[in-house]
Amino acid sequence: MNISEIPYKIYLEEDEIPKTWYNVRADMKEKPAPLIHPGTKEPLTFEEMQPIFCDELIKQELDDTTRDIPIPEEIQSFYRMYRPSPLIHAEFLERYLDTPAKIFYKFEGSNTSGSHKLNSAIAQAYYAKKQGLKGVTTETGAGQWGTALSMASAFFGIDCKVFMVKVSYEQKPFRREVMRTYGAEVTASPSMDTEVGKRINEENPGTTGSLGCAISEAVEVATKTEGYRYVLGSVLNQVLLHQSVIGIETKTACEKYGIKPDIIIGCAGGGSNLGGLISPFMGEKLRGEADYRLIAVEPASCPSFTRGKFAYDFADLGMVCPMAKMYTLGHGFIPSANHAGGLRYHGMSPVLSQLYHDGLIEAVAVEQTSVFEALTQFARAEGILPAPESGHAIRTAIDEALKCKETGEEKVIIFGLTGTGYFDMKAYEQYNDGKMSDHIPTDEELDKGLSGIPEI
Ligand SMILES: *Cc1c(COP(=O)(O)O)cnc(C)c1O
Repeated sequence: MNISEIPYKIYLEEDEIPKTWYNVRADMKEKPAPLIHPGTKEPLTFEEMQPIFCDELIKQELDDTTRDIPIPEEIQSFYRMYRPSPLIHAEFLERYLDTPAKIFYKFEGSNTSGSHKLNSAIAQAYYAKKQGLKGVTTETGAGQWGTALSMASAFFGIDCKVFMVKVSYEQKPFRREVMRTYGAEVTASPSMDTEVGKRINEENPGTTGSLGCAISEAVEVATKTEGYRYVLGSVLNQVLLHQSVIGIETKTACEKYGIKPDIIIGCAGGGSNLGGLISPFMGEKLRGEADYRLIAVEPASCPSFTRGKFAYDFADLGMVCPMAKMYTLGHGFIPSANHAGGLRYHGMSPVLSQLYHDGLIEAVAVEQTSVFEALTQFARAEGILPAPESGHAIRTAIDEALKCKETGEEKVIIFGLTGTGYFDMKAYEQYNDGKMSDHIPTDEELDKGLSGIPEI
């Protein structure tokens, strides 16, 4: 099909919403390393994970062989509220950049939580409900995951306790209110409600918190409260599995309209949206059926892939969680205070880490002022006001499109537009006022975190 015949917004039919998730691990020759016990350093068994995670989710976490996993009816029917999400041909951005490249983006921001995170939140809440649990606990940084999980928990009528990184809790009161509106209990982390929170507060007076710290608190409450389990919005294998709906829909749309991507780009915090977007394309690559350039984009101020170490590390600051083999900056890493957006987790999905280690994906790090420049250009050209996290993918998509302008190549670029930025106007304000700065950590600064990675 000629590109001019492709609609601006490609909507799939309702019956084209995926009925199975795609498990990319089934096609990986080198499987991601298993989660290990922080004490014994042995791979965690199903029984050992049971006090922390929901049973069905543990099965998904451990399953490296089943390629297609059926999506339960109840989850499929919830997906119908906001899926299929559109694949949009960025005609206006192309015109603005004056590039021969063809740019498409998969837009995951058209649900109230404002991001792709609802795709996994609804699955996790469903399995908790099905197991007869009372509720779930979690952490949230920028707030999108907490919002998504609140919506999902409300839908299935279970409790939701959210530990929100203190700096976000204070800077994003409206996010907090959205969560409370959906019935969640929101606590600023580190709190004085948990043993680990008290310890972290004592050791770091005045701390504004971190994701690693909020995770420790949420896990403590889940394991100490009858009928509760802990759920996580990124990093884990199960989350990438749920997010494969993004990639499957993208691939269906591409096949329907004869779009053959050369480059697929996603921002990378814990790796869930990127992992989901690229999964089915990676599957083809792993099976030798097709080839694509797949690019992870991370902040220069939190550069897990590009400057981290591939090693077993703790998932949380309190060192109570399972350990994962991943690209990591060290569990003690805290990004500089001027870092505006999300994507601030010290580690990276074990699946993506293995794929990166095996040379199957590329990674680049970008500075936040250049990200906000791209966000602003995109908003003005395409109308959508993106989340700062998504801006990392936009930055690299624009850079690749500008390279095409120099070479005259008509490459097809797809990127993930993970969410909207209405709750991030403080960061936009900084940029608009010319007060945003960049911080690229020095090797010495990174060494502090890296040297805390245990030898295993
Ligand atoms: C959470 C989030 C991200 C980053 O998380 P990943 O797990 O790396 O996908 C990106 N964009 C938005 C809008 C988010 O909410």
